[in-house]
Amino acid sequence: MLDLLITHATLPDGRQNMSIAVQDGRITEVTEGLQAPAHETVDAGGLLVSPPFVDAHFHMDSTLSYGQPRVNESGTLLEGIALWGELKPTLTHEAIVQRALQYCDMAVARGLLAIRSHVDTSHASLLPVQALLDVKQRVAPYLDLQLVAFPQDGVLRAPGGLENLKRALALGVDVVGGIPHFERTMAQGAESVKILCELAASQGKRVDMHCDESDDPHSRHVETLAYETQRLGLHGRVTGSHLTSMHSMDNYYVSKLMALMAEADLGVVANPLINITLQGRHDTYPKRRGMTRVPELMAAGLTVAFGHDCVLDPWYSGGSADMLEAAHMGLHVGQMTSQAAMRQCFDAVTVNPARLLGLEGYGLVPGAFADFVLLHARHPADAIRLRAARLGVWRRGKLLARQPAPAAQLHLPGRPEKVSFL
Ligand SMILES: [Zn+2]
Repeated sequence: MLDLLITHATLPDGRQNMSIAVQDGRITEVTEGLQAPAHETVDAGGLLVSPPFVDAHFHMDSTLSYGQPRVNESGTLLEGIALWGELKPTLTHEAIVQRALQYCDMAVARGLLAIRSHVDTSHASLLPVQALLDVKQRVAPYLDLQLVAFPQDGVLRAPGGLENLKRALALGVDVVGGIPHFERTMAQGAESVKILCELAASQGKRVDMHCDESDDPHSRHVETLAYETQRLGLHGRVTGSHLTSMHSMDNYYVSKLMALMAEADLGVVANPLINITLQGRHDTYPKRRGMTRVPELMAAGLTVAFGHDCVLDPWYSGGSADMLEAAHMGLHVGQMTSQAAMRQCFDAVTVNPARLLGLEGYGLVPGAFADFVLLHARHPADAIRLRAARLGVWRRGKLLARQPAPAAQLHLPGRPEKVSFL
């Protein structure tokens, strides 16, 4: 007797009438038309069942703090950093924990069950680190929270920056972060990339740096990141986040750079919602979009994910833990409108970030964890178009969240009484 059987599911790869069998928290079989006795059977009715959403780039220590102590008037990255600097001295452990837990509630309801969050290690107290380590433990039964030691004020620029980051790693933070474009000079930025990659190599950790998050076409830190990755043999374990300067770079230089990135198997995270709002603020018209070259990087064989980055914080006044919103924006900004490209946008919030995080047991295959989402959509492009409702969210075969299919009642002469948008 199975614990759970999902029937009549459409999978992201297009297979239809699929059954997913679950026993002891794991998927035991994914087969067309399978019927078998189970304690619970869920008929997906031909709708899409996907592995859970994964956010490769988030800031959980600042989330849901919008308006504290004021809002970002210029809308720039640098005012956001200054504003976060004003907010930090007023933070408490409990306030960070409560906001983060509230965010994780939203995430689970959205089928977002794994998040890589950067955590600010700049201050010697490591208050945000302690708080998010606490949160990581508390949400572990229902959400994988991976933490990145993020030296927001610069690892070389801020006094004690490197020491504080090392202390955060010693406390249990998973991944080495960085912010080379915020260091004082291009040379110092390159030096910080070298130091941090060597630190990660010596501790067997992954790397995920905020890298070249500017409109400066001459910002070159991703080149150094790719170089250090191949020099230290960290292939497939290093991610460059943002890379917005690539949007503005010279095409010839990019043609060389992308080959170096592919050689290093560098991970890439674009954050479409944030990149489109923070970048291009010094432009008149035409205004640059700021998002890195997503379709071209995918075509070069790199693993590219879309991150949410921020929700209601000093940098962004929107968001609701919905990775389909990030995919929707990425699709538009990247002009990824072909059938294949829309599918790639869905992969960029599911399988691609799962690979960057190194998640184990992910995917709709026998032996994987029984983690999946039933969406009110017929296929991945539909899910993005509708930012589809998550009708059910399961983890280890247990139902964590459910919501009804959306439908509006209509009062129109000669027309149906409701519309479901499918
Ligand atoms: Zn970020």
